Amino acid sequence: MATKVENWREKEAGIDEIFEKYPEIPKIIILKTDVHRRGYVLSEKAERLLEEGNYQSEADTIFGEKLGAKKIPIGLTFRDGTSLIGGYRSNEGIRDHYVIDAIDGKFYVTDNGNVYEEVDFWKEPDFYHKKTSKGTPMGEVVNVRPQRLNFAISRVCHFWDTPGEGCKYCYVGINGIEATKKNIPALYDYDEIAESVAEAIKQQGRFSMIMVTTGSILTGKKVFDDEVDEIIKAFEKVKPIFNRKDLKVQLIGSAYDKEQLIRLKEATGIIGYTADLEVANKEAFEWICPGKAKHVGYEEWKKRLYDAVEVFGRGNVNTGIVGGVETAQPNGFSSEEEALKAVLSEAEELAQHGVSVAYIVWGICGIFKDQVPPSLDYYIALAKGLDEISRKYGLEAYFDDYRRCGNHPNTDLGRI
Ligand code: SF4
Repeated sequence: MATKVENWREKEAGIDEIFEKYPEIPKIIILKTDVHRRGYVLSEKAERLLEEGNYQSEADTIFGEKLGAKKIPIGLTFRDGTSLIGGYRSNEGIRDHYVIDAIDGKFYVTDNGNVYEEVDFWKEPDFYHKKTSKGTPMGEVVNVRPQRLNFAISRVCHFWDTPGEGCKYCYVGINGIEATKKNIPALYDYDEIAESVAEAIKQQGRFSMIMVTTGSILTGKKVFDDEVDEIIKAFEKVKPIFNRKDLKVQLIGSAYDKEQLIRLKEATGIIGYTADLEVANKEAFEWICPGKAKHVGYEEWKKRLYDAVEVFGRGNVNTGIVGGVETAQPNGFSSEEEALKAVLSEAEELAQHGVSVAYIVWGICGIFKDQVPPSLDYYIALAKGLDEISRKYGLEAYFDDYRRCGNHPNTDLGRI
């Protein structure tokens, strides 16, 4: 059970105060960030309305979880086109959850008697319930966001093979362990992926890009050699669908060395590369991501991102961080002010080398299931600070902007 913060409404600035403190930040982005931070539940009326509509619910990919027969939303869209991935909670909140209610046939974010914003859930794509030639529902092979297709290479992240080396906030690793226990193969079936992608893109006007990710595969002559090989094998199946040299694909993978990066780009034609540093502070990174620290190291991870800019070009490389995880206790920053200063200083160094940063709101789970994420004020200051750095260095987050991803409060600000 989550650690409940008692009387939190009295202890920290509420959303209305944050609206006033940051008049330059759109209220929808502030609200979206807070809904992500605190999570949401559905009122009974909203549950009924959700059941009636053609909404996407459970997914069984690397990102998804099956939660039984009840329709569980996997994402929200706000009126400005930004999205919130996840956020639904079936347990008690660390701070009270927002409630999505149904009013006059529409969904609204509400809290403590206030009605804030109309939202909608993600619509199911046409291909979702079709089956591959092997009989698997395509929605279990390839999942979607409002404008993008996602597929994965390995559902298992092998940093978890050695106890204590998985990233402490991560649920992908735990899902992978569960899959292994059930004898589900670690690697997805690339023929099924190709069939599902081919079917998905028949829907006119729905998808503008593909995102590919993978749990880390550490084996090979050098660390990640086998991971790169597997991605190339998958693209041997997927690339012919598009019949072109470059593909509007973002890969979120491990931090490859320069030889691996070149090999990957040449063989696949992907144009966007992300290797998530996750924690923008060396000491906190070494505590929170021990596997990454052991197999690559903090400075080497950054160097590989800089090498990637030479291979993929400025503007095509970024890194994800789990916003707020640097305040995890006992070894993270105990002061939000110091944490913010440290993260923004690292982000500036990354930006100087052409690497932009996209943060997600820390969703409490995994080994860190009893941690408490920071204040809304922290998250908004982080979004503002990272956006200012991106503007200063002229970095755009094409693949992670509000249209294609929409899950990063700082890149959401890029539209202004
Ligand atoms: S690298 Fe870390 S965050 Fe990514 S899947 Fe593996 S354990 Fe999770």
